[in-house]
Amino acid sequence: MSRFIKTAYQGFASYTPGEQRNDGTYIKLNTNESPYPPAPSVLEALKENDLEALRLYPDPTGRILKEKLASLYDVKPENVFLSNGSDDILNFAMMAFVDDDEKIAFPEITYSFYEVIAALHGVQVNRVPMCASDNLPALFINPDDYCSLHQNIIIPNPNAPTGAALTVDQIEKIVRTNPDHVVLIDEAYVDFGAESAIFLTKKYDNLLVSHTFSKYASFAGGRLGFAIGSAELINDLMTIQYSTNPYNINRLTMKLAEATVDADTYYRANAEKIKATRMRTTAALEAMDFTVIPSLANFVFARHQRIAGKTIYEEMLRRFVLIRHFDSPVITDFNRISIGSDEQMNQFLERMQEVINEKS
Ligand code: PMP
Repeated sequence: MSRFIKTAYQGFASYTPGEQRNDGTYIKLNTNESPYPPAPSVLEALKENDLEALRLYPDPTGRILKEKLASLYDVKPENVFLSNGSDDILNFAMMAFVDDDEKIAFPEITYSFYEVIAALHGVQVNRVPMCASDNLPALFINPDDYCSLHQNIIIPNPNAPTGAALTVDQIEKIVRTNPDHVVLIDEAYVDFGAESAIFLTKKYDNLLVSHTFSKYASFAGGRLGFAIGSAELINDLMTIQYSTNPYNINRLTMKLAEATVDADTYYRANAEKIKATRMRTTAALEAMDFTVIPSLANFVFARHQRIAGKTIYEEMLRRFVLIRHFDSPVITDFNRISIGSDEQMNQFLERMQEVINEKS
């Protein structure tokens, strides 16, 4: 750090994204991207793009893309906010809605970006403890813990890194019982089997739902996120965004994202494939003595009964398979494994079997 950094940021620990080893040597199952390519029509849209127009600014209102998303999700364009990846929504929401004397509540075990973004804005946090379920460790959200909390709340549904999901009835109760605070439901992984709360945004003015194209829509590199909520909430986000980066979606991304919405059926079919591969992978891991948290996301979170999580991560890395290990006490024996294509998962399972044979 330089001697010029603000006092508030001295020693600041920023978010550490998953490793990006993309040279084709590794089977990359560590950042929950889609294993499938963008739709042919999206690649076509790239070719047809008028690159000469790159000299012009993009439309800061994103009118066409908002109209397409609004029609896909049965809301109005004024209920849609566009962002450069959905992390930006979390950032803007933290700036827009949490007062200096307020707290933001989120699960103790969740997407670690929430903690970082709160610290960046000097926001106090309430890390809500997790609870156990059946014979599984305390890794689950108890929705009752969030009811009548009277704090701003972020809940990812499904949660990361566990993949466990709440029902929309449970979410609705949380939203209904915190009427004077914003409840942000981060639906980055909702397209793989969980229920979306988007329809509830028509009923509750304190509900904001964020989505991303990074996971189900094969568009992590394109960086497109969007949020849906009441026109007033969306306006507040736009106030912050226009004061931070008015042209936050570049021209190319905007065009390709429009084509992505048009190709929604293709991406829904891919999500179905991923769900089937997730089921098969879960069963195979269980047969190797892994405990696998039931997941509705495009990843599974698994712990071996005898082998340490870090050992598994390192041994898989040696075998050119990249999975995600979190060096944090409660979850240190788990690894998060993104669901790849069937072929990738076959190789993953083969190499995992080698590790189990060698280390058991
Ligand atoms: N929310 C959750 C729970 C995530 O895991 C991620 C991806 N790391 C994001 C949001 C952000 O994704 P993106 O910025 O690519 O839209």
